[in-house]
Amino acid sequence: MLSFPIHSPLQRLHDPRFEAKGVQLWIKRDDLIHPYLSGNKWRKLKFVLNAAQKANKNHLVTFGGAWSNHLLATAFAGQNFGFRTSAFVRGETLDNAVLQLCQNMGMTLHLASRAAYRDKTTLFQTTFGQDPEAFLVGEGGHSLEATLGCASLMDEIPSTADHLFCAMGTGTTLAGLSRGIQERKRKTHLHGIPVLKGASYLIQEVQTLYPTSQFHCHLDYHMGGYAKTPPELIDFIQAFYVQHEILLDPIYTSKMAYAAYDLLDQNVFVAGEQVILLHTGGLSGWLGKREALGDLPLPAPFKI
Ligand SMILES: *Cc1c(COP(=O)(O)O)cnc(C)c1O
Repeated sequence: MLSFPIHSPLQRLHDPRFEAKGVQLWIKRDDLIHPYLSGNKWRKLKFVLNAAQKANKNHLVTFGGAWSNHLLATAFAGQNFGFRTSAFVRGETLDNAVLQLCQNMGMTLHLASRAAYRDKTTLFQTTFGQDPEAFLVGEGGHSLEATLGCASLMDEIPSTADHLFCAMGTGTTLAGLSRGIQERKRKTHLHGIPVLKGASYLIQEVQTLYPTSQFHCHLDYHMGGYAKTPPELIDFIQAFYVQHEILLDPIYTSKMAYAAYDLLDQNVFVAGEQVILLHTGGLSGWLGKREALGDLPLPAPFKI
C-alpha cells in the first residue's frame, strides 16, 4: 500500500458566534497534509494509485479544469510515487500558475475543447489507447476506490461528533464519509455543501457511489455558482482568518464554513453539540483569485 504521512489535527475553535449558542466548533485540518496533495485529494488518490500499481500501470491519465486541485494533486503524487502523469485540461489555454506547477512536476498537458472534454473515454482511447501503461483516473478522482480513502477519515473523528460539514464538487468525498459513518455505526450527521449551482444531481451521484448514504445536502450555498466569490464570501473568509488564523480556500471550504455559520444562525444545532468543519485544503485555488485575497497572506508554497 502506498503511504503518505498524514498530519491533520482536529482543532477546537473558540468562536463567539458558536459560543453564544453553546455549540462547540472544531476544524479538521486536512489542509495541512500537503500544499499540493492537499486535503481530500490524497485520501481520494490513495486507493486509486494502489489499483494502478496492482494493475502494473505506471502512467496516470486524468482530467480537470484549468485551476484544478485534482490535477495538481495527481502531478505531485505521480512525481512522489514514480508514476508518469498526463492530463486533459478543459478550456482554451494551458497558461496559468496551477498548470505551470503541474508541468514543473513532470505532468504532460493536453488541451481539450469543452465539447471533446465531455467524452473522456474517447479522449483517453484516442491519445493513450496504444499505451499499455496508461491508467485512467476519473475527473476529480471520482471513483469507488476514492470513497474508501475518505471513509477511513472517520477513524480520525471522535464518535462524539454531532455534525460533520464537507464541501462537495463531485460528491466523492462525502460518499466516502457517509460510508465511514455507517460502517462505524456513528451518530454523526453529515452535511454536504455543493459549491456549484443546480447541484441536486449530486444527491443521486452520492447514492451511486454509496447506496445507503444518509446526509443533508444544502443546495443554496453556491453563492452564485462554481468559483464565484461575491464580496460577502470574501468578507467571511477574512473575518474567519482574523478570528482563527486559518485560511479557507475560495472555491470549496469557504462556502462550506459559511453554510455552517448560517445554519447556526437558523438554530439547526442544539446547545452542547459538536460541529466539525472538514478543511479539505485547496489553497492553490487562491492562485486564480489573488486579487480577491486582499491583505491576507498566501501560504508560502504558492508564492511563485
Ligand atoms: C476537490 C475538492 C473538493 C471536492 O471534493 P469531491 O470529492 O469532488 O466532492 C472539496 N474541497 C476541496 C478543497 C477540493 O480541492
